Amino acid sequence: MSGMPDHEQTPAERLATPVQFLKGVGPQRAESLERLGLEAVRDVLFFFPRDYEEYTGRRDIEQLEEDKLQSVRGIVEEVELRAGKTGRSVLGVLLRSGSRHLRALWFNQPFLVDQFHRGDELLVSGKPKHQGLMWVMKHPRVTQLGEGEPDPQAGILPLYHLTEGLQQWQIRKIVRAALEEYAAMLEEVFPQTFLAEQAIWPLAKALPEIHFPSSREHLRNAQRRFIYQEFFILQLALAVRRRQQTLDRAEQFEATAKIDARIRRLFPFDLTPGQERAIAEIARDMAAASPMNRLLQGDVGSGKTVVALYAMLLAVAHGAQAVLMAPTEVLARQHGLTLKRMLGGSRVAMAELVGALPASQRQTMLQGIASGEIDLVVGTQAVIQEDVQFHRLGLVVIDEQHKFGVRQRAVLRKTGADPHYLVMTATPIPRTVTMTLFGDLDMSTLADSPPGRQKVRTYLTGEDQRDRWWKFFGEQIRQGRQGYVVTPLIDPSEAISARSVEETYEALANGPLEAFRLGMIHGRMRPEEKDAVMAAFRSGEIQVLVSTSVIEVGVDVPNATLMTIESGERFGLAQLHQLRGRVSRGRFPGHCAVFTEKPAAEAPHRLQAFASTADGFRLAEIDFRLRGPGELFGTRQHGLPPFRIADLARDMAVLEEARRGALQMVQADPHLAEPQHARLRRMMLVRYGRVLELGDVG
Ligand code: ADP
Ligand code: MG
Repeated sequence: MSGMPDHEQTPAERLATPVQFLKGVGPQRAESLERLGLEAVRDVLFFFPRDYEEYTGRRDIEQLEEDKLQSVRGIVEEVELRAGKTGRSVLGVLLRSGSRHLRALWFNQPFLVDQFHRGDELLVSGKPKHQGLMWVMKHPRVTQLGEGEPDPQAGILPLYHLTEGLQQWQIRKIVRAALEEYAAMLEEVFPQTFLAEQAIWPLAKALPEIHFPSSREHLRNAQRRFIYQEFFILQLALAVRRRQQTLDRAEQFEATAKIDARIRRLFPFDLTPGQERAIAEIARDMAAASPMNRLLQGDVGSGKTVVALYAMLLAVAHGAQAVLMAPTEVLARQHGLTLKRMLGGSRVAMAELVGALPASQRQTMLQGIASGEIDLVVGTQAVIQEDVQFHRLGLVVIDEQHKFGVRQRAVLRKTGADPHYLVMTATPIPRTVTMTLFGDLDMSTLADSPPGRQKVRTYLTGEDQRDRWWKFFGEQIRQGRQGYVVTPLIDPSEAISARSVEETYEALANGPLEAFRLGMIHGRMRPEEKDAVMAAFRSGEIQVLVSTSVIEVGVDVPNATLMTIESGERFGLAQLHQLRGRVSRGRFPGHCAVFTEKPAAEAPHRLQAFASTADGFRLAEIDFRLRGPGELFGTRQHGLPPFRIADLARDMAVLEEARRGALQMVQADPHLAEPQHARLRRMMLVRYGRVLELGDVG
């Protein structure tokens, strides 16, 4: 830095001034700020409080009333820690305001003593009592104020993230200095008319209020402005991306009556109304000259596979190829089987590209795919993405993924026109998530399930019920049904989980299930071994399958009606729902027992929720609220930068507004070329240009 900022700098340059030049910031404080990621003045301005604290009912000491929540400001005159005999202690802090005194008391918190020093200015909040001539407050809320710092407006104080060597009052002072000197340099990002239409506060009004609110209501409006903006920029990016996709060229695959009839002949059942609707939506997309980008979501067992198969056969009917990518090998093989079965009477040529193929066989397959002899390819994502060259790829179906999301779809090698895309999710996704992570996809939802589908009963249960469960389990097996026993991934290491499967297997085979034919499957087995076990289970040769959560997603054995989940606490809600979905797939009622390590009555809320409903759409929302977006649907996992102030679980309503606003804007100005949209366009490109491949907005 060459020196103090001068006045020939542009506003942007001035906002880039290093924090060191702010009033009250020396080299040491600058270092603390840097640890918080605050390097330039602009960073400080947008360093939003993590929370707020209330110091309402501000009074002078002479105005105090007993037992009412009030706040007092005073100077520390005396700090006294008295330790009692039995380890008990009293910390007293004597505060003076004018000529009156108040004593703040803390019992058995001796460590607080270091926080207080003579001469400090404090704001305390609590219910005072008169004791003799003195006012006393026990365990008040307390904060230190800077010298000359004004009382918080409306009693609301911001709380910032801190780092060593930095106190709340110090960062407040720094933020205040930044606001005073620099806030005026910030330019509004939204057009004025847009702000008015959407009832969004201008930046100039919202920024001071989010740091130092003058009322609860103002704080809400200020927060809403920044939450809206954060959602808006993403929604803008998604809308632009969607628009760009419509400019790409794809082959047009019309579902003529003849093709439609030919495809349906292969299905062994009538489609549900939901499936019909989804297929109609897909057929419309695939007949268009730009690629389909559609998300197919439906509850577990709602019959997504056959919808995908329709789409694949539609591409094949036009001489193009289709690929189905599954997340696991077990599932890829199962899809292979399903397709083979349904395609039995057709001339469609299918290849299964899975991990461990003999090199020569793999080579032949790759050649067949490259020459176009092979119409349909099924496999795991990993394998297909490696080195497969298609002759004429018309459709990509990605099964059972939400860990995957929108970001990684375009990695297949292109040949000429873009393929159509269909993404299927394993379980329903909360609306907020479909609007963000999948916000650039069209949506088809299967809300119904195939006819005759039986309900699953769910039992949340503890050790004391184990004998009863195994007895029931045995009776069902004797009646011809099959069942699962699933043990948790105890440790990220597959080795340990494999051991726990083996132990469970041994205990059951030599105990309550010794009369039956048991099999075992876990992630450490070789693909051929896994295949053999799954085949034996499918054929009924194996009656009980003991497993880790490898069978979690998608496995389809309709005769299996019994699901035993060990240590239910160790599974997430979506995972549990997937597991339960294994046993309600045929004409027999399913039963799902979840054993908990603690007594069932103490089971976590999500297990109670799980036992109380089998509706995947409801569970998705519950899960989302319980766990927040971070864990399962964190934007980061999808390659999107995290939100700074918006919260998907909390800010649903604002999200909808921002989405509508962004769609409107892109509709009116598809290239965001109008000058009043220039700043928004730039922000969108900086934040999402790369991850969403918005390279060329024009
Ligand atoms: P998911 O949506 O969980 O992937 P699947 O596609 O695996 O569900 O279908 C679940 C089961 O329902 C399969 O056994 C499938 O053959 C069957 N199924 C799908 N659609 C129908 C239908 N319309 N009528 C009867 N059975 C169906
Ligand atoms: Mg499926």
